[in-house]
Amino acid sequence: MADVASRFVRALTVTERAGLVRLRESGPRGSRLRAEVILLSAARVAIPEIGRRLGLSRPTVTSCLGRFERSGLAGLPDRRRSGRPNRISSEVLHHIAMVVKARPRDLGIQGTRWSLTRLRQYLVEAGVVPALSVESLRIAMKRAGLAFTSPRIGQIQKGVTTMIPGAFEYHAPSTIGEATALLARLGDDAKVLSGGQSLIPMMKLRLATPKHLVDINGLPGLAYVREDGGALRIGGLTREADLEESDVVQRRYPLLADTCRAIADPLVRNMATIGGNLAHGDPANDHPATMLALGAEVVAVGSGGERKIPIGSFFTGPFSTALKPDEIVVEVRVPAPKPGSGGAYVKMERKVGDFATAAVAVQITLGAGGVCEQAGIGLTNVGSVPIKATKAEAALVGKRPDDTAIKQAAQLAAEAAQPQEDLRGSVEYKKDLVRVLTGRALRKAIERAQKGG
Ligand SMILES: Cc1cc2nc3c(=O)[nH]c(=O)nc-3n(C[C@H](O)[C@H](O)[C@H](O)COP(=O)(O)OP(=O)(O)OC[C@H]3O[C@@H](n4cnc5c(N)ncnc54)[C@H](O)[C@@H]3O)c2cc1C
Repeated sequence: MADVASRFVRALTVTERAGLVRLRESGPRGSRLRAEVILLSAARVAIPEIGRRLGLSRPTVTSCLGRFERSGLAGLPDRRRSGRPNRISSEVLHHIAMVVKARPRDLGIQGTRWSLTRLRQYLVEAGVVPALSVESLRIAMKRAGLAFTSPRIGQIQKGVTTMIPGAFEYHAPSTIGEATALLARLGDDAKVLSGGQSLIPMMKLRLATPKHLVDINGLPGLAYVREDGGALRIGGLTREADLEESDVVQRRYPLLADTCRAIADPLVRNMATIGGNLAHGDPANDHPATMLALGAEVVAVGSGGERKIPIGSFFTGPFSTALKPDEIVVEVRVPAPKPGSGGAYVKMERKVGDFATAAVAVQITLGAGGVCEQAGIGLTNVGSVPIKATKAEAALVGKRPDDTAIKQAAQLAAEAAQPQEDLRGSVEYKKDLVRVLTGRALRKAIERAQKGG
């Protein structure tokens, strides 16, 4: 049976993995558990260990894996493993008809001519279909009367365009009222488009296939950075580059300044917005942990009016937030730092521009005698949601943050991390990384607090 487990590892496609994650987080009760079993197996966790972690017997785990192997999982895009050919939807056939008009190499597949194998490789890698046998593809193409023609030069020919994302309708409202009314009417079929730096890549991989895009870039008055009423107010459409260059951020919010500099690269930062970074709900994004450390508040406007959401209850799961489908993030509010405050963001990335292997955000306030009055610690990419290391924070408050206190807080932060093993490292490595990065961030934040911010 160990073989079955390892076969999943080789066979899970990007779309299938995303579907399993979705089921694990929000599927019906039974599917949630089954999806978790399959994902653990795909992460090469052995069957006895899966049973131990989930409190299941070995036969239950084995039978769940076997059933998935034979017939897939209800709620996932169709994945027949029984040897019968998959049914291919007319939308996919339409896609194939356009794809085969381009050269394989134009779409990232080696070769100058299409073959069934190359086409199947493209369709699975691009996430157009979750899994597909060459035989199913041959039968579907024959039934639809599709054949490979001579390759044409380039993807775009006169009158023929190969779309990588799914088809969608584009809306460009000019007021917030118009935008929220549209979102309320279109419901789950619509997505807000801001900088497009996360949404567009997901659409290109077909991990997101919204039927409608509501572009909010034309909404006036949503891009600003100013201190007002005891808080730093950042408009939802503020670009990372503008936040990074903001004078008040540079002078008074070093944690935020560090974070902006650590996000992606200048090209991405020119487009990406603070609202999009938080609304995307990606635990690998950098702002969420920083906002947790800063105790920020998200202001959202929907068709029912305005709502203030404390950052602590904003992230509800991987890629999920407390936002309703018709709500737009219009502002992020960060409490103004008290005297004696300092902050720092320390990120470990494999190369410049990458998401964090792990990162730690610290905001600290020192009172009389250098005693810690307030501490905020947020962790990036070491859990299914950004993590607030509350025990580590509590361990600092009321003490002078000397070496012993820093070490203790760093250890508690590492214990709060719940990373998963992946290409960036093992669970043990990532936890230890959190310990080291927390120590560094604390020391930097304390030094800044002692210098006055
Ligand atoms: C090459 C590359 C590297 C990257 N590296 C990093 C990195 O190191 N750190 C990091 O944090 N991020 C990184 N990112 C991700 C990206 O920077 C953020 O996710 C980005 O800030 C998203 O903002 P956006 O405006 O582009 O959002 P979009 O892509 O337009 O939208 C993202 C999601 O948020 C929703 N949304 C957007 N704006 C709003 C709003 N105002 N109200 C409600 N919902 C909204 C959209 O519907 C969508 O679901 C990287 C991206 C790329 C392409």
